[in-house]
Amino acid sequence: MPNLKAILSPGAGVDHLFRDPALPRHVPMVKVVQERMTRGIVQYVVLHVLRHHRHMPAYQAQQRERLWQELKQPGAWDRPVGIMGLGTLGRASVKALADLGFRVAGWSRTRKRIKGVETFAGAGEFAAFLGRSEILVCLLALTPETTGIVNARTIAKLPAGASFVNLARGRHVVEADLLAALDAGHLSHATLDVFHQEPLPPASRFWSHPQVTVTPHRAGNSDRLAIIDQMLDAVERLESGRTLRHRVNTRHGY
Ligand code: NDP
Repeated sequence: MPNLKAILSPGAGVDHLFRDPALPRHVPMVKVVQERMTRGIVQYVVLHVLRHHRHMPAYQAQQRERLWQELKQPGAWDRPVGIMGLGTLGRASVKALADLGFRVAGWSRTRKRIKGVETFAGAGEFAAFLGRSEILVCLLALTPETTGIVNARTIAKLPAGASFVNLARGRHVVEADLLAALDAGHLSHATLDVFHQEPLPPASRFWSHPQVTVTPHRAGNSDRLAIIDQMLDAVERLESGRTLRHRVNTRHGY
């Protein structure tokens, strides 16, 4: 396509485009950034962080056993939550969690400064970030560097009994390592919206694992008409020579 002027991705993630070895990297690429999507993601993060923080999976298991037993409940400030990825969605999520009083930290490739949030950057600070995160949330872009980033070695750095929420991409996680950490009790629970194979195959152990919550890649809630509006805006900007919004950095792949 020698006349291709721009690539407009109808989603927030663009990893699928970078899997194409013939992708022309000089052509500008635009991704979807939507208020409604961001709000949906923040709701999902808050819902599941609170669910882990307030021991809901354990209380639901106790209810099935008709067991009346209080579990020790730390305050939000005594619950360190870690968000991997401080892009559009990670940044909105850390702010919402900080507003709820959580001790929130974020980790990203480049250094960020966000009021009320402890920030870590780069591979050199990853272990310290993991070591303090009792609830870990993945909102990273999927690139060759972040593929399989949640694996046996990194999970082992989390505090014992930590829980994990993944709503970024399935391939951030080595699924067998995650299952092994849940089986061994090092992780108490995982909430997963995204998987290597979607729809999740009926034979997957995630479906029946007592410490796993599965949702069908619906954490974000996109609005088709708003996506079309954003694409029309990109075409108009391109044709009138104005700067494109929500450009993807084709060198970094996100
Ligand atoms: P952005 O591109 O805005 O942010 C990506 C973040 O990942 C940035 O903070 C970036 O760091 C960080 N990052 C990238 N590479 C590395 C690395 N090697 N080490 C550390 N940090 C890294 O993405 P969005 O916020 O828009 O989306 C986040 C994820 O959510 C994506 O994977 C997307 O596909 C997924 N998603 C899922 C949805 C769902 O329904 N489940 C819906 C929408 C999106 P830096 O800031 O330094 O550049």
